[in-house]
Amino acid sequence: MADQEDVIELAKRRGFFFGANGAYGGVAGFYTYGPNGAAVKDNLESAWRDRFTVRQGNMEIEAPTIMPEAVFEASGHLDGFDDMLVECPECGASHRADHLIEDNTDVEEAESIPIPEVEELIREHDLRCPSCDAPLSGEPVEEFNLMFETSIGPGTGQPGYMRPETAQGIFVEFPRLKEYARNRLPFGVTQIGPAYRNEISPRKGIVRVREFTQAELETFIDPEEDEPPLHEVEDVEVTLYPAGEQEDEDGEAYTTTVGEAVDEGVIGSDWVGYYLGVAQEWYQRVGVDMDRFRFRQHLPGELAHYAADCWDAESEVGGDWIEITGFAYRSDYDLSKHAEHSGESFTVFKQYDEPKTVERATVDPDMATLGPEFGGDAGAVADALGTLAERDPDAFDADEVEVEVDGETYAVDSDVANFSVEEVTENGEHVTPHVVEPSFGVDRIVYTLIEHAYRTDEVDGEARTYLALDPEMAATDAAVFPLVSNDDRLLDLADEVTADLRSAGLSVEYDDSGSIGRRYRRQDEVGTPFCVTVDRDGLEGDGPDTVTVRERDSARQVRVPVDGVADEIAALLDPEDDRAFEALAAAYEEIETGVETETA
Ligand code: ATP
Repeated sequence: MADQEDVIELAKRRGFFFGANGAYGGVAGFYTYGPNGAAVKDNLESAWRDRFTVRQGNMEIEAPTIMPEAVFEASGHLDGFDDMLVECPECGASHRADHLIEDNTDVEEAESIPIPEVEELIREHDLRCPSCDAPLSGEPVEEFNLMFETSIGPGTGQPGYMRPETAQGIFVEFPRLKEYARNRLPFGVTQIGPAYRNEISPRKGIVRVREFTQAELETFIDPEEDEPPLHEVEDVEVTLYPAGEQEDEDGEAYTTTVGEAVDEGVIGSDWVGYYLGVAQEWYQRVGVDMDRFRFRQHLPGELAHYAADCWDAESEVGGDWIEITGFAYRSDYDLSKHAEHSGESFTVFKQYDEPKTVERATVDPDMATLGPEFGGDAGAVADALGTLAERDPDAFDADEVEVEVDGETYAVDSDVANFSVEEVTENGEHVTPHVVEPSFGVDRIVYTLIEHAYRTDEVDGEARTYLALDPEMAATDAAVFPLVSNDDRLLDLADEVTADLRSAGLSVEYDDSGSIGRRYRRQDEVGTPFCVTVDRDGLEGDGPDTVTVRERDSARQVRVPVDGVADEIAALLDPEDDRAFEALAAAYEEIETGVETETA
């Protein structure tokens, strides 16, 4: 298994990612993607868009990253988006108390433990400051809100926040988005973009940062009617780590199919099951090592109170499991909260196939009696009677009914309420959709792909490191090397091959500096699937000019005519075309090289 430090060192050296603002000493939690990392991230986002927007028939939006305070009052982030902070009394370093506990004891998922118990665990295990080793026992643990606050406009402005998740940008625009969906459920809206969290202790490169990219899909459904196309993924095999297994001392993750897990109720929602199946195949496609991957169910204490069933996709990196995606059944929580706080309509009108005649209980309170009796509260008492009639019409069978207004109970003579049941015809009803959300962390997946692809071996007696990235994710499709730089014919041919490959839609790196061995090593380390070398041997025979094509993982080389080389490589890279390098090796002359030992 790759050492995380080696991966991060390679990432920095080869332009994948590195700490940002280095010239000014850097600030923890902010990373810049270099050219190779930016390209991999872009490829990953394209693959996500292809699967979760285009192929699912969803619509993608792009909302602002700064939103006014009212949004986060409604969403609950202002009050509850906190992590547990403990500060070192000696060096002043800030630490996440739950992470300290997880890292130093057998306790898992400490995030859901109440603060007094967390303080007790710190005392009991005599936990110390990871920076200076001072004891943290007795130090207060506090809630720390993770949102970055800003001020919108000049002067004191109005408070705004950098969004801590892209999802809110979709929820607040629901009243307009439902129009684009022609008021029909189910429909899905996606967004890929930055999210900001003022993490207490950013760590592990791009795994926990303060600015990161999320790719989120919000699926709006009618909970009474809409079913996912579960049959499409019911046979997909998944590794599940359900809550029951986590709570059992001998419990462990196991492999099953999506269909079975849903049938047996292990996955509590058909919609969540459906997305686990779709995501499983997508992770495989982009190159996550599925032997180092699992879906972990949230423990009861971890679940948000409104969430029915939540699972995290986790990958194993550097010996730890990290969450790379959260899958949540969020009920109607988000839309109801925004409706309540904004006063706008966050419902969809569901037209019945045929109008329905229904009985509706109503009241017509006699205000001439209620007024003198209840004074300023009379109006509220009348409203409360109306609500009671809808909720519990039988209550009006008694001579007197009781209603509560602002904590006070009022008794009203039933005759004064003028209760009646009428028949009304309804054409439909207003439904607040439920939301099913897969929320992908792009940076953590990029990191996972790089670490899972990291390999070392020996070629021709020399140690090498290479990234066995899936070709769809690799920053560069092919590299072209003229073997020597003082032969015009050879340089012209290398230019011609480069142009042909680019015309075939491939991203190509041209490299004429350093020994050929070094050039191969550079491309191996960034995961370029194919290298094309133009040498004199290829120009000297009687037949057509040839170049060598070298495949990254096996380091095998084949001599291919210049004319067909772009098409051959394009076909090898085409995910729809299952031709393998083997076919090229069978069709053309193979050149002796060799990988000797695979060590990682
Ligand atoms: P964690 O428990 O690791 O802090 P979370 O449960 O708060 O994560 P979610 O709110 O579910 O994360 O966010 C969805 C996804 O966004 C996560 O699965 C993760 O991939 C990504 N993510 C969240 N916080 C960060 C971060 N600080 N840096 C990088 N990616 C992040």
